[in-house]
Amino acid sequence: MDIRIAYSTAFTSLVISLSICAVLAYRSPRSIGKSVTMLCTALIPPLLGNLIIVGASVEARSVIGYYTYFLGMDLVMLALVHFTNAYCQGIGDGKQKPTLIYAILGLDAVQMLLNPVFHHAFCVEPVMVDEKLYFRLVPLIGQTIHRVVDYSIFFAVILIFLIRSVRSAKLYRERYTVLLMTMLAVGLWQTFYILSRKPIDRSMIGYGFFGVIVFYFSIYYRPLRLLDRMLSGIAAEIPEAMFVFDPTCRCIWANAPGQRLTGTDEKHLEQVTERLTQMFGESKRNESDWTESRVIGSGESAQYYALEHHSVNDDKNILAGSFLFVRDTTEEQRRIKNEIYSSTHDSLTDLYTKQYLYTCIRSMLTANPSIEYLAIFADVKNFKIVNDVFSSEFGDLALQQIADWIRDDMDEKCVYGRLGGDTFGVFIPKPLFDADSIAAELMNFTVTDGVFTHHLLIHLGVYEVKDPTIDVSVMFDRAHMALTTIKDDYKTHIAYYDSNLREKILWGQKITTMLDDALREMQIRPYLQPITDATGKVVGAEALARWIHPEHGFLSPGVFIPVFEKNGMIVEVDRHMWRCACKILADWKGVHDDLFISVNISPKDFYFFDVVAEIKALVQEYQIDPIKLRIEITETVMMNDAEDRMAILDEFRRSGFIVEMDDFGSGYSSLNLLKDMPVDVLKVDMKFLSGSEGGSKSNTILRSIMQLAEDLGIASLTEGVETEQQFRDLSAMGCRLFQGYYFAKPMPLEEFEQFAFK
Ligand code: C2E
Ligand code: CA
Ligand code: CA
Repeated sequence: MDIRIAYSTAFTSLVISLSICAVLAYRSPRSIGKSVTMLCTALIPPLLGNLIIVGASVEARSVIGYYTYFLGMDLVMLALVHFTNAYCQGIGDGKQKPTLIYAILGLDAVQMLLNPVFHHAFCVEPVMVDEKLYFRLVPLIGQTIHRVVDYSIFFAVILIFLIRSVRSAKLYRERYTVLLMTMLAVGLWQTFYILSRKPIDRSMIGYGFFGVIVFYFSIYYRPLRLLDRMLSGIAAEIPEAMFVFDPTCRCIWANAPGQRLTGTDEKHLEQVTERLTQMFGESKRNESDWTESRVIGSGESAQYYALEHHSVNDDKNILAGSFLFVRDTTEEQRRIKNEIYSSTHDSLTDLYTKQYLYTCIRSMLTANPSIEYLAIFADVKNFKIVNDVFSSEFGDLALQQIADWIRDDMDEKCVYGRLGGDTFGVFIPKPLFDADSIAAELMNFTVTDGVFTHHLLIHLGVYEVKDPTIDVSVMFDRAHMALTTIKDDYKTHIAYYDSNLREKILWGQKITTMLDDALREMQIRPYLQPITDATGKVVGAEALARWIHPEHGFLSPGVFIPVFEKNGMIVEVDRHMWRCACKILADWKGVHDDLFISVNISPKDFYFFDVVAEIKALVQEYQIDPIKLRIEITETVMMNDAEDRMAILDEFRRSGFIVEMDDFGSGYSSLNLLKDMPVDVLKVDMKFLSGSEGGSKSNTILRSIMQLAEDLGIASLTEGVETEQQFRDLSAMGCRLFQGYYFAKPMPLEEFEQFAFK
């Protein structure tokens, strides 16, 4: 075959191949793609140049071929430098441009282009090849410069690849050596042509192949050996034990942790299977993929392992082997256990948290639906005082001792936990709850830190679970409701929930929403109960609230006052009552100037506003003499902030009001407190001295109270006088004012006016 046709065919197919490579590289997502495209594209002009040279039968055409060839080679060098920079991560990790080299190549191209002017680079001479005219290159100085430039660059590139392949890790060397070898071959091949001056330069074929090889290695090739070594490197490095088995279950490889776990080494891998069986028992080792967890030992020294097995099939789906991971999860398990413990237990008392307690109760109810349970809500009264008076450390200790007390005689059929700050919950089968003995224990419940011993008042609210399907939180809400009915007395410690209580609470909610309307529409109004002197003459009245309800009819204060005292709305009721009393006094002005009206002041009022200022403003508004409006306060007012409260009472008296101490003898009456108390009248309630008629003891008490009042210069008023006998006895004791059913019951204003002004 004609040698020219052979070369032309070779060049043409390379041009086509390179074009395809350039397009594929351009589309490749790999970052090197663009550089590869550049290189493959740059290789096309010199190949075309050679194609022209080989086919040229006239000198001019041949010269054009040579220009294309040489200038194309400058382009190839430029692309090669660009590619090398990216592939070998040269300047600035391959991101910076080797500008100097680009400039040199530019200058070379310019001097080659100037050849037609200076004829300094090359000319051609005709020779006969295969009996046909061929124009062979005659290199001059410019061509030599061009060669030096291109060679130097080519050499530099080879050097870079060489350094890279020597310096890089064994795994990656292949990446560089293949291209390095190809470049060396191409370089030698071209040198051979230059030196031998053979007419047709075939080395361009080498460049073409080089381009294709570059494309393949940078875009597609992932050296298998590299992958192999990388994977085994990774397997050797993983911290968990790993074993590889052949299809007959013989261990063929184990990493270092695996060898340690089984106490084997590389030479004794055949023992691995047996050791694993000893440790973890028989396993379905050959059955495809599975995971299992195993515990070795028990208690504190227990070791936890997670086993994970995978089988590997070849492409014909025949079992090729399997591998097993063994992970020591002991730490993890301990951590999880600790986390579970701390999320379900209160850190101070070690009791269950509220959430966890509720969860346990729910599962207990589900497991034993036939057992009757009690939900018990325990609350420490005035716990804040323990913290304030002693210290929060003492408070913590107290809570721990309460927790110990709860824990002490508990059956496994009970669950209990801490519901909140100073509240605890217990869920207990009904027969196990011995209320009497618990009440007895609560009578004398003390906590101590070895130095101080403090008596704690603990109240229990008990809800009997009738319907196990209701929410556990609701059960404890109800137990808590029961607890709130215990007054702050030191005798009752346990209260039970019953449906009446629920009714009461609902009632409370109902009347609270109706209060605003009731006040506006005067549904709540004062009834007046006469107060008389020793002759039976009416000298004044106490204003007592009544609610004439459009739906529920006549309501006595017992059904609404305590509700409003509890939720603070009493403030509104009292204000309303005071205003009503002032209005009445204003109406009486000039007609019945000698009568006074006493109004009640709830202890709660003092929390919410300046009671003195409020009442002073009222008497001013209605233009009445303060002496006509008597102020009734109870001794509980003095329980908190005694000094402040005394100042308030003083202020009342200084402003001209008469202050009465209501219900004297009902609570913790301290005679001691009385001598400092700025009051004008002591109001003693007969019902607190039950059976006083004839009861010599009660009479003695009454007599001493009267005497004491007189000694202190305080007047006394007895209320709850029901019989003539009582009236006479009290008069004899020196009491000057009286109030009670014996004289009259509280009555509406019109009735009172008829009664008093007849
Ligand atoms: P209190 O201030 O001790 O009022 C005296 C209570 O004893 C009145 O009950 C009165 O009706 C009743 N009473 C009077 N004489 C006798 C008697 O001879 N025998 C008996 N067994 N009881 C007698 P009432 O009106 O049901 O008031 C009960 C309590 O409600 C009052 O006790 C007072 O603490 C409170 N309350 C009434 N109205 C108001 C008010 O407007 N504001 C405030 N904060 N509390 C009020
Ligand atoms: Ca009163
Ligand atoms: Ca009273």
